[in-house]
Amino acid sequence: MPSCQNCGYKWTWRETFIKMFTFRNKLKCPSCREHQYISKQARNKLSVFTMIPFLIWIPLVSFSMPFPYVLTVELLSFIAVLICMPFFYKLSNEEEPLW
Ligand SMILES: [Zn+2]
Repeated sequence: MPSCQNCGYKWTWRETFIKMFTFRNKLKCPSCREHQYISKQARNKLSVFTMIPFLIWIPLVSFSMPFPYVLTVELLSFIAVLICMPFFYKLSNEEEPLW
């Protein structure tokens, strides 16, 4: 779970999860109200991680699995990714350029 680089407050899974859906790079710390940014390393990890449901899709379709089965697997992997995502968050005091 991420911890604030300003006050050291450890964000809970729930707080991180909610902030994930703002889709912003700038996140406000629930404890000190300072802005925190998702670190470059965490962003790279997250972008790879969100690819997993798409990567699962390819072998399922190429082995001509029945569509309801593919859909169920996709849905479950997507939910699993969402649940695990807060664990990959790392915060930084400054905005780091992506490249
Ligand atoms: Zn803080």
